Amino acid sequence: MERDYSKLRNIGIMAHIDAGKTTISERILFYAGKTYKMGEVHDGTAVMDYLEEEQQRGITITSAATKCLWKECDINLIDTPGHVDFTAEVERSLRVLDGAVAVIDASEGVQAQTETVWRQAKKYGLPVIVFVNKMDKVGADFQMSVDSVRDKLVANPVALQYPIGEADTFKGVIDLVRMVAVYYKQEELGASFEEKPIPAELMDTAHEWRVKLLEALAEYDEHIMDAFVHDTDVEISILQRAIRQGTIADKIYPVMSGSALRYIGVQRLLDGVVAYLPSPKDRPPVTGHLPGKAEKEVKLECDPAKPFVAMAFKIISDKHGDLNFLRIYQGTLKSGSRVFNVSRNIKENITRIYEMHANSRSQRDYAEAGDIVAVVGPKEAWTGNTLCDTRHPVLLEAIKFPDTVMSMSIEPRTAADRARLSEGLDTLRREDPTFARKFDPETGETIISGMGELHLEILKNKLTRDMRIDVRVGKPKVAYREAITDRVECEGKFVKQTGGRGQYGHVVMSLEPIYDEGRHLSKDIEFENKIVGGTVPKEYVLAVEHGAKDALASGILGGYPVAGVKACLLDGSYHSVDSSELAFEQAAAIAVSDGLSKAKCVLLEPIMKVQVVVPEANFGVVQGMLISKRGLIVDTKPHGNMRVLDAQVPLAEMFGFSSEIRSITAGRGSFVMEPLTYEQVPEQISEKILSNVS
Ligand code: GDP
Repeated sequence: MERDYSKLRNIGIMAHIDAGKTTISERILFYAGKTYKMGEVHDGTAVMDYLEEEQQRGITITSAATKCLWKECDINLIDTPGHVDFTAEVERSLRVLDGAVAVIDASEGVQAQTETVWRQAKKYGLPVIVFVNKMDKVGADFQMSVDSVRDKLVANPVALQYPIGEADTFKGVIDLVRMVAVYYKQEELGASFEEKPIPAELMDTAHEWRVKLLEALAEYDEHIMDAFVHDTDVEISILQRAIRQGTIADKIYPVMSGSALRYIGVQRLLDGVVAYLPSPKDRPPVTGHLPGKAEKEVKLECDPAKPFVAMAFKIISDKHGDLNFLRIYQGTLKSGSRVFNVSRNIKENITRIYEMHANSRSQRDYAEAGDIVAVVGPKEAWTGNTLCDTRHPVLLEAIKFPDTVMSMSIEPRTAADRARLSEGLDTLRREDPTFARKFDPETGETIISGMGELHLEILKNKLTRDMRIDVRVGKPKVAYREAITDRVECEGKFVKQTGGRGQYGHVVMSLEPIYDEGRHLSKDIEFENKIVGGTVPKEYVLAVEHGAKDALASGILGGYPVAGVKACLLDGSYHSVDSSELAFEQAAAIAVSDGLSKAKCVLLEPIMKVQVVVPEANFGVVQGMLISKRGLIVDTKPHGNMRVLDAQVPLAEMFGFSSEIRSITAGRGSFVMEPLTYEQVPEQISEKILSNVS
C-alpha cells in the first residue's frame, strides 16, 4: 500500500535560551502519549535532556530526535540547541527538518538568538509556526510579540489566535479560525479543554484580529478575497487550506500562543503542526550531485521506490555501538543491508534500525524516504556524511561549519589514559564536526579547538564524565592565525648526495596574500602550479603542494596557522635518480619558511559578531565597555525599556564578559555572539601576545 505522507512531520523547535523550548518539548511528548510522567525543567527530569550534562546546565545541547504520534500523524521532533556556541548543531538539525516552531517569550518578544536561528532557518526556506509562550508571565504582551516578529525578523506574522487575558489573568485562547474561545483544565495538566462562545468583552478585539487574518490570507485564495471584500463568512476548511499554502510557501508565519508552564495552548500548537507545516513530500526536492562531479546535479524525490540516499546528521557514541541519526531523502533502507558512505568512500553495514523515542527505542525492519531514524552498524561515519545505495552513489551538499576560534591544550594524567584519550578524541570528532584536534610535536601537547569557551568545557566534560578519562586541560586560548602582507619569492633545496641513492628536490615559489574586500579572511590556503616546462616533473607537484601546506600550518610568529595565502610553484630543478616525493616535500617546506621569514607577517585574531541587550539605564556604561574592548558598535536600537547593541568585538576581549554584563545590569542584560571574521591584531597587542607565546 502506498504510504500516506500527509501523516508525517519532521519538525524542530527553535528559541532563545529560556523561552521555554524544553518545557514545550516535554508537553508535546506528554500529550502525544510517549511520556507518562510530566518532566519539569527545574527539577531536571526533562525527557529530552537525557544527557547528564544537559540536566545540570538546564540547556539543551545535543540534537536528539524523538518520534511521537498526534492525531494519527507521526511527528519527529528534532531538538535544536539554543546556544550560539552550538551553531553547527543548529545548522545540521535545520538541514533535516521540514518545518519548525519558533518559540518566543511573550514578555520579551523576539530575542537575539531567535534572530540568529531564524536567519539560519531562512537559508533552508523552512516554514515556521511562531508560538508566543509564557502568556501567563508578568509583562506578557501578545501584540508586542507579534510586532517583534514583523520588525525584527522582517517576516509576515499572521495571528491564528488571540490570548484571553494576560499574565495572571491568562486562561486560554480565542481561535480566530473557528471563532471560539478555548479554556484549558489545569487540574488535568491541560489534557482536556472546553470550547465556549467568545466572551462579549473580547468580541471587538477578536473581530479586529480576524479581519487581519482574512486580509493576509486573501492573497492566497480568491474565496477569502471575496469574503473579505463583501464581508461574508468563509468556511473553516478554506481558511485552513490558505494558511497551509501560505505557510508552506514560506510567505506567512502563523502565530499561536499559550503557556507551556500552565499547560495552555500546546495541544493546539500540535494541531497547527499537523494542519499547517509541510510533510516531506510538500518540500522542494533536495539536490545532490554525482561524486566528484559537482556539475552533475541529482534531484532526490521523497519516494521509497527510488535508490536510497540519506544524511547522517548526528552521531552519538554508545557502548553498544554508535547511534547514527539519519534523515532519509530518497528510497528505502533495510536492516541488514550494506550502504555506501560516499563522503568517506567506504561501504558500511546497517545492522539495526531504530525509531527513537525520548527514553526508549523500537526496532524496525526498514525505513523510508522522509523518515528520521537511528541506525547501528556504520563504524566510520562522521556527522554530515552521505549514505546511499551502493550502486547509485550521490553526494549531498556538505554542511558548512564556521572555523574554530578557541583552543585549549589537553593531556592525559596517566599513561593508561593516553590511548583512551586518543580514542575519545576520535569519537568526539566523529560526533562533532566543529571540533578539531591537533598534536603539537614541539611541545608534545594535544590541542583541541572549538567554537567558544562553553563548547570546549562541554567537550572536556564529555571526556572526563561520560568517557571517564582523566585529563588535565590548559586555559582556553584564542585561536590566532598568521598572514603575510606582501608577495615574496622564495627558494628551497633539499639535497643529500653522499654516496648511494641520494635526495634531490629544488623549488622556487612565491607566497602572496589573498585579500577579500581589503581584509584577510580565514580562507583555506591556495596552491597553483605555474611551471610550464618540466623543471619540476608533474609527478612531484602534489608533494610540493603537501609540503607547502604542511609548512603553512604553523607560521613563524607564534606557530599559528597561516591564513589567506596563495603559494605558487614557479620553477625548480630535479635529478633523474635522486629526486623523490619526499625530497620535494622537504624542499617546499624549506621554501615556505624562507618565504615567511622574508615576508612581513602579521597576527590575525577572530572577530565576533556580538549582540547585547541591556536595560536603557546601563546602556552608556556597556557601550563604553565594548569600545574599551576594541569593539566597533555597528547599531543600537531601543527595545521596550531595553536597548539592543550590535557590535563587532575581538574574541580575546570577550573572556569573562558574561559575568561583567550580569554584574553591571544586575542580571537583566544578556548577550550572544558568533564568529564573524579574522582581522589583523594591532601591533602593540600583537607584541604582547607573541611575547607570551615564546
Ligand atoms: P529553554 O531554555 O528554551 O529550553 O526553556 P525552558 O523550557 O528550560 O524554560 C525556561 C524557564 O522558563 C523554566 O524555568 C520554565 O519553567 C519556565 N517556563 C517555560 N514555559 C513557561 C511558561 O509558559 N510560563 C512561565 N511563566 N514560565 C515558563
